[in-house]
Amino acid sequence: MSASLANRTCETAGCGSQANLQCPTCIKLDIPGSYFCSQECFKGNWSTHKALHKVGQNSNGIIEPFNPWPDYVFTGPLRPHRTSPARTVPGHIQRPDYADHPDGTPLSEQSVKLSSHIKVLNDEEQEEMIIACKLGREVLDEVALMIDVGVTTDEIDRVVHEACIERECYPSPLNYYKYPKSCCTSINEVICHGIPDMRALINGDICNVDVTVCHRGYHGDLNETFFIGNVSKTAEKLVNVTWECLEKAINAVQPGEKYRELGNIIHKHAQSNGFSVVRSYCGHGIHQLFHTSPGVPHYAKNKAVGVMKPGHTFTIEPMISQGSWRDKCWPDNWTAVTVDGLLSAQFEQTLLVTDTGVDILTKRLANNGLPYFMDKKS
Ligand SMILES: [Zn+2]
Ligand SMILES: [Zn+2]
Repeated sequence: MSASLANRTCETAGCGSQANLQCPTCIKLDIPGSYFCSQECFKGNWSTHKALHKVGQNSNGIIEPFNPWPDYVFTGPLRPHRTSPARTVPGHIQRPDYADHPDGTPLSEQSVKLSSHIKVLNDEEQEEMIIACKLGREVLDEVALMIDVGVTTDEIDRVVHEACIERECYPSPLNYYKYPKSCCTSINEVICHGIPDMRALINGDICNVDVTVCHRGYHGDLNETFFIGNVSKTAEKLVNVTWECLEKAINAVQPGEKYRELGNIIHKHAQSNGFSVVRSYCGHGIHQLFHTSPGVPHYAKNKAVGVMKPGHTFTIEPMISQGSWRDKCWPDNWTAVTVDGLLSAQFEQTLLVTDTGVDILTKRLANNGLPYFMDKKS
């Protein structure tokens, strides 16, 4: 049984049985849901169910593939799919300011935008960050349990959203500058900020899932790239090297180190393996603000300002590409892709500078903190 059918119940009113099939037309049209236990239940629903298919049909009743930007030239094979309706967060969970701003503007971030001051967190604030980051890690662990061939990125978003709410967290990406979903899912040539949609993951994909949670006003941010089924040797090498880039950069974190040095370390390792470093997206300071100083570029010879001090919290999140380092944005104004359509991978942790070095606040607790793609398949 494909993972997307697990834990679903038949849509026939009052049936309640485990779902065993999905309407094939709905799958083709990226229409969410449509789970049934049997052909009998499916047929019994047909007269009302078929009305749903109108969404994907033109006026002549012809089923057309979803194509929101007919004139756009894609750089690679990935295409956007339909998205599900917006998800909501219950009112009892503390919300960041942008959650209710009509344009999703984080006013608190913008008020310090031009300042290069890096906040030193006191013990109490550090404790809040430790908690938020631990919860963020738990949410990504939930994703790792279900991500697989046949699972849609929308389903991943649902799991992230619900796992956040269970932990009294607001999913930080939701409505941030009007971002429409609760996490980012970046497949193959997508560098970052891919929007979860109805595309089912296929064997050989690499898929990054980026989770940020906001707990009691503090953000914890992490991501991992997952192997979907069996991936190519190139994908395997790229993902391994990207993980190593992050590890090497983290090993350099200690009081007195310059933030600009991290890019030199990452660049050197990526380049010596024949890969390139994305320049448009950087690591960032993070605490009560989702993105703030310091800026942490991952490329060499950058001009990042600042020296690490105990009590600083920030992310390192290198995006490493198979071919060109250059990026381009889809017309959704979020999805960043490689200009040559080749693969890109990423890993991210939120870090705390300590008196003697660094704590990885979003570290995985199992398997010595190693990422899921390294787990042995049983
Ligand atoms: Zn992130
Ligand atoms: Zn981040």
